[in-house]
Amino acid sequence: MTTLLLTHPACLLHDTGYGHPERADRLRAIDDALAAAAFNSLKREEAPRADLAAIERLHPKAYVEMVKASIPQRDHKMLDSDTIVSPGSWEAALRATGASIYAVDRVMAGDADNAFCAVRPPGHHAEPSRAMGFCLFNGVAIAALHARVAHGAERVAVVDFDVHHGNGTQAAFWSERDLFYGSTHQMPLFPGTGALDETGVGNIFNAPLKPGDDGDEFRAAYETRILPALDAFAPDFLLISAGFDAHLKDPLAQLRMVEADFAWVTGKLLEAAGKHCKGKLVSTLEGGYDLDALASSAAIHVETLMGAAS
Ligand SMILES: [Zn+2]
Repeated sequence: MTTLLLTHPACLLHDTGYGHPERADRLRAIDDALAAAAFNSLKREEAPRADLAAIERLHPKAYVEMVKASIPQRDHKMLDSDTIVSPGSWEAALRATGASIYAVDRVMAGDADNAFCAVRPPGHHAEPSRAMGFCLFNGVAIAALHARVAHGAERVAVVDFDVHHGNGTQAAFWSERDLFYGSTHQMPLFPGTGALDETGVGNIFNAPLKPGDDGDEFRAAYETRILPALDAFAPDFLLISAGFDAHLKDPLAQLRMVEADFAWVTGKLLEAAGKHCKGKLVSTLEGGYDLDALASSAAIHVETLMGAAS
């Protein structure tokens, strides 16, 4: 049994333009880090394209068609002030979304213990009918719906430790009792959602952190709020929105996490998955914009996943 690593070269062809933080070099940095001998036992596969039918479980067909029609023949087109598409973006978005869906299939089938999807564009800011925050399709939320429809999962949880609140996932899950969303994130910060009192139908657990907070506050937020709620929810599948932009070196936010904090939270989520759903867990990359911090944080995250799989 193994940890599955999914990526696709098309994810490098989503070009956001000069100086944009969400750039192809992010995946190259992760790829370099995961080339080390310590990662030899990863099962590596290319991500398939997502079926439009799977995407349209979350995003209305009109929205999916709008995204497709917005893809320019050359150069760039802005969907909002920071969400940019280029000629390669459609294929990249299909592969990025397809990675999470396929990872669910493989883990559900018992072909892997768990999986990490090293893909872009990210997804957790994409609302059902709105692209934003560098995100086109919400791959993790789509994967959660896929786990229900294709595999009969009754209760699916997403835990999101990206420094930004996953407004898109929260919006998608808002009135769904059997879908859990738990998030630590900096507040105030983009996108502005994620307050403690945003609770959906008792299925949303936000734990906002203050600028300057470090691993102590981060761990306390999990210990006191998110992990007990996750335990009570008792998921039969667990997904992670794995953003590494809460790292102290990240240029987009002011939290002060280090690699050991990402290893810790990964371990805790593996523990929860082990307790409730035979370890079935799929993690997908969201943010992380300092290349060195992103690479070392993603590496320790994957190493921790592999530890559980061995
Ligand atoms: Zn982020």
